[in-house]
Amino acid sequence: MSDPTASNATYVRKGFGLKAEVQDTLAADYTGALVDRLRAGDYALTAGATTVRLAREFGFCYGVERAVDYAYQTRRKFPDRRIFLAGEIIHNPHVNAKLREMGIAFLAASGKGFDYAPVAPEDVVILPAFGVTIQDFQVLRELGCVVVDTTCGSVLNVWKRVEAYARDGFTSLIHGKHYHEETRATASQVEKYPGGQYLVVRDMAEAELVTDYIEAAAGREAPRPSIGREAFLARFAKAASDGFDPDRHLARIGVANQTTMLARESLAIGQAVGDAMARAHGEAYRAEHFRTFDTICSATQDRQDAVVELLREPLDLMVVVGGYNSSNTISLAALCAEQVPTYHLADPDEIDVAGNRARYRKPGLHHEEAEVAPWLPRTGALRVGITAGASTPNNKIGEAVARIFAIRGEALPG
Ligand code: SF4
Repeated sequence: MSDPTASNATYVRKGFGLKAEVQDTLAADYTGALVDRLRAGDYALTAGATTVRLAREFGFCYGVERAVDYAYQTRRKFPDRRIFLAGEIIHNPHVNAKLREMGIAFLAASGKGFDYAPVAPEDVVILPAFGVTIQDFQVLRELGCVVVDTTCGSVLNVWKRVEAYARDGFTSLIHGKHYHEETRATASQVEKYPGGQYLVVRDMAEAELVTDYIEAAAGREAPRPSIGREAFLARFAKAASDGFDPDRHLARIGVANQTTMLARESLAIGQAVGDAMARAHGEAYRAEHFRTFDTICSATQDRQDAVVELLREPLDLMVVVGGYNSSNTISLAALCAEQVPTYHLADPDEIDVAGNRARYRKPGLHHEEAEVAPWLPRTGALRVGITAGASTPNNKIGEAVARIFAIRGEALPG
């Protein structure tokens, strides 16, 4: 397959040079004065008996800023053309609603990619920060429409890693969510090489199914019995490449990860898989047949490090703002929930000031949504920590902070 990113007149990866023209609109739509005040106050704001502390790294990452900027530039560049987005540009309901208001239509997922049936050659398609699969690139090339590719550079780095694994005959073991756009795009990279294989594991529990299988296949007594071939294939039916065979394709493994997973868990998974191969076949085999590369992006890492730092402060609760389908927000909420009561809110609108009520998603595997009322105590000292995923704009963080103070009946100092 030829390089899908080869330069041609209809493929744009660096915007349209219209940053200055869209800057004011972006600022009006997404900046937040209250967040600026928090930053100026050493990431804390106190009114009466209420203190809110903000993590030192939070919110929009470089990849998201760029993707949203390019989407606005695209609208400016093509005021009269139909513009489509391959899925959501990022996982934030507010940002996606703004793009819809600008007349940008969202394409639905279909098979290994998106449904491009509504797109005509004279239209424009924006690719999100997560990237799209090689099948999507193929369809778009054939369509001949203008493609504005906002795939984040950190995602491209993972693609390179996975492509190299496939080239060298290694199965890519990806720590991620098999249904997440980024992981679907990353996994598709193995198809650039005939016979390329991938397997996506969601967490350490799924990685252990792999390590148990490797050890059992080598005749070793694994820490847990293997679930066996048929159960393994059934378990990973949606998370493995076509033709994946655990008896053949776990012989050479290269580990990579979705950029927004819990970094600590990704590292532990890489280590566990390498150790299992060494136990099964010896250290020399591990050296030859196992590779691992940490592909968590620096923005994700910085936000996770900052929240760990924030959790060293005495806090009564944590609020994490970000889309319920935002992987990095989910990782942040999981870290917080280990230490304090944590409320993952999709949006500040989930906080009902008059009713002292919050609708939130419980951190954890089952993603259960819940409602709590009364939410905050009306009296007594209260210390609230707050952070936000990489797709959450500052104005939404600020609105959440304002609602917390409002429930407490505290007027913010002028
Ligand atoms: S979270 Fe990381 S990989 Fe994803 S867009 Fe942001 S910087 Fe890029």
